[in-house]
Amino acid sequence: MSDYKYSIQAKNVNKTFLKRTQEVKALIDFSITIKRGTIHGLLGPNGAGKSTFINVLGGLVKKNSGNVSICGINIDKNIKLSKFKIGIVPQELNIDPFFSPAELLELQAGLYGVPKRKRKTEEILENLKLTEQRNAYARTLSGGMRRRLLIGKALVHNPEIIILDEPTAGVDIDIRTSVWDYIKRISKQGKTVCLTTHYLEEAENLCDNITIINHGRKIIEGSKNELLSIISTKTVSFVLDKNIIIPNQLNEYKPILTNNILKLSYDKNKTNIKKIIDILTDNKINFKEINTSEGDLEDVFIKVIKNK
Ligand code: ADP
Ligand code: MG
Repeated sequence: MSDYKYSIQAKNVNKTFLKRTQEVKALIDFSITIKRGTIHGLLGPNGAGKSTFINVLGGLVKKNSGNVSICGINIDKNIKLSKFKIGIVPQELNIDPFFSPAELLELQAGLYGVPKRKRKTEEILENLKLTEQRNAYARTLSGGMRRRLLIGKALVHNPEIIILDEPTAGVDIDIRTSVWDYIKRISKQGKTVCLTTHYLEEAENLCDNITIINHGRKIIEGSKNELLSIISTKTVSFVLDKNIIIPNQLNEYKPILTNNILKLSYDKNKTNIKKIIDILTDNKINFKEINTSEGDLEDVFIKVIKNK
């Protein structure tokens, strides 16, 4: 294995699309550093430029400017070799419906020129729990199985980096956790993983490091813990049994009261929920139900951009 520190390094990448007559700047001086052996999340809302960047890595989209290296290989100098270093799991579940999982993996291995004796079709099927479906038509596979098959396809040439574009977008919660397990397993085998997501929870669960992108620009990059200390706004809602007057002590939690639901925001690094409940108790405010949620990406962006 070659010696390199960064699995992916991109500097000042620009990509402009022409949409009818309008220019769309999908990537603006976008830079990212993905350390070898890590799980790196590229986090951003729809339209941020995540897939465009993934497609630049895979050679499907040609950047206008900037430098990208994969495992130390400059993609402009050797796209063929750099492509071999990565396996991309696309966002869409496009699978040829008339092939079986085993056939699809064999075909893919053929495309990458993997000699028959070096193919790992059965091992991949086994690892992805698709052995039972090895000969089934792909069109009969469930969404979760398809996603796993696409992961399998990306692994046939034993790439050093696996890139997953929105691996759990639109999939059920139970499938989501099983996909997370596969991703963790791939990482444990020593591969570098890069995934794009617009789910904060997904990034929190999986990633060592995170880059946040919005409108084609990098907003921030750092370890999960560094970022979580910024992304720390939580919301709590109390369903009250009657209408109340909001006590002043709650002002710092930006209270919103609608239809007997009291919504408060707090920084989970500074406050715990008990402190809030104590204030309610002190003010003889009763509640029937309590719901908490993490701040969403929008809160994060507002916060990150404000802190700049
Ligand atoms: P994300 O994956 O973060 O949702 P994309 O990279 O798909 O975002 O898109 C970034 C921006 O580039 C969007 O405004 C999108 O409409 C535009 N875009 C992406 N691909 C194309 C294309 N092939 N032609 C024109 N515009 C595109
Ligand atoms: Mg996308």
